[in-house]
Amino acid sequence: MDILRFESKNVWKELSNEELEQVYDYGQRYMDFLDNAKTERLATDEIIRLAEEKGFMNFDDVVKNGNVKTGDKYYLNNHNKSVVLMILGEDLEEGMNIVGAHVDAPRLDLKALPLYEEGNMALLKTHYYGGVKKYQWTCIPLAIHGVIFTKDGKKVNISIGEDDNDPVLYINDLLIHLSADQMKKTLAEGVTGEQLNVVIGSSAANSDSEDKEPVKSNILKLLNEKYGIVEEDFQVAELEIVPAGKSRHVGLDRSMIAAHGHDDRVCSFAGVDAILNIENPSKTVVGLFVDKEEIGSVGNTSMDGLFFENMIAEILHMQNKTPIVLRRSLANSKVLSGDVNVGFDPSFPEVLDSMNAAKIGHGVSISKYTGSRGKGGCNDANAEFIADLRNIFNSNDVIWQTGELGKVDQGGGGTIAYILAKYGAQVIDCGTPMLSMHAPMELLSKADAYMTMKAYKAFLQS
Ligand code: MN
Ligand code: MN
Repeated sequence: MDILRFESKNVWKELSNEELEQVYDYGQRYMDFLDNAKTERLATDEIIRLAEEKGFMNFDDVVKNGNVKTGDKYYLNNHNKSVVLMILGEDLEEGMNIVGAHVDAPRLDLKALPLYEEGNMALLKTHYYGGVKKYQWTCIPLAIHGVIFTKDGKKVNISIGEDDNDPVLYINDLLIHLSADQMKKTLAEGVTGEQLNVVIGSSAANSDSEDKEPVKSNILKLLNEKYGIVEEDFQVAELEIVPAGKSRHVGLDRSMIAAHGHDDRVCSFAGVDAILNIENPSKTVVGLFVDKEEIGSVGNTSMDGLFFENMIAEILHMQNKTPIVLRRSLANSKVLSGDVNVGFDPSFPEVLDSMNAAKIGHGVSISKYTGSRGKGGCNDANAEFIADLRNIFNSNDVIWQTGELGKVDQGGGGTIAYILAKYGAQVIDCGTPMLSMHAPMELLSKADAYMTMKAYKAFLQS
């Protein structure tokens, strides 16, 4: 007899002990990735490193050599900030199975001229990147990562604050004793963007008595000794402030992970891990790991850039195909837009429709739509595609649920889904439910992270 009622499944209850072990193993692999991929550049480096280990070839070399064949594995490094992984199938005209996710995360970027001294401290001015609650970034240990170029064109990689022996950086907040006025402000106004100044030093030891800014001079001296850089070089740099330290197991049952940048490295890693463990697919499989989603997918490293389309065009050129095949290849594709979704939080139930919100521990979440107030601005996926996905997931023991980004008139958020949909491809948002999205440390369930990977692998192989 048909089962008349529907209830989503709890991953922890459904899995065998053997598969539960895989959940924890996968969680550990993901945590290792997180700790090596704290910025979009570092994530790109790490994805390429993992892909090279599995025999993926640099696509720039493939273009130079001028030939491609079925079963080849490629990676395309796009400006060191986004990357495509691909296993070439039999006929691109049939379309591709694509998982796309983003590798950038909310953070604080340094301004062009960041370094100044005031109150006997040296500080760095920042401009936050993406949607942040500014007050959350004060009074926590911070690290700095990025690149800076010297006058002679040398690219210097900066990374301070991750090693246990490294010093960390810090942003001050007002002491509670003097916060009567601040406490009356809204959370949005209590700490302002211009107050997110990062303390980087306070010593005036061994300074020149004439020097009016001895702390700043000392910091410049230390930077010059370690990295060979001078103050002018800050103008030719991309330096990012992120929470210092590694991802952590959460809960006495170690069932969850707290880390910076789960949004969207959890979906990025799920896509990477899935592709790296697929052999000889008949259809071309693709992983797109893109930058700039958090500021609206703009620029040549974002999903809106044409690097992926250009890559397909290069392959078809090497296969002596006509330009129309590029259009057919993209239009016939199927895409999972991998991005995190909000999980039900019992402390803040009022913003969600508990019946339709994704539940922590109930598996990967698919969202037909992500917009709010009339589905504004979202890619409203086609039911025909969802029907295909249901069959793929159910026949591969993927535990999945549906989710939505808040109550109808509440929030909403963007993803990269609409960008690939414009080619004609079938696209749906499919990712991991999580808590405290965009906080310096975010929280999610290992069971949901694992099911995300399992969903992507089943989809890519379909
Ligand atoms: Mn995201
Ligand atoms: Mn986000």
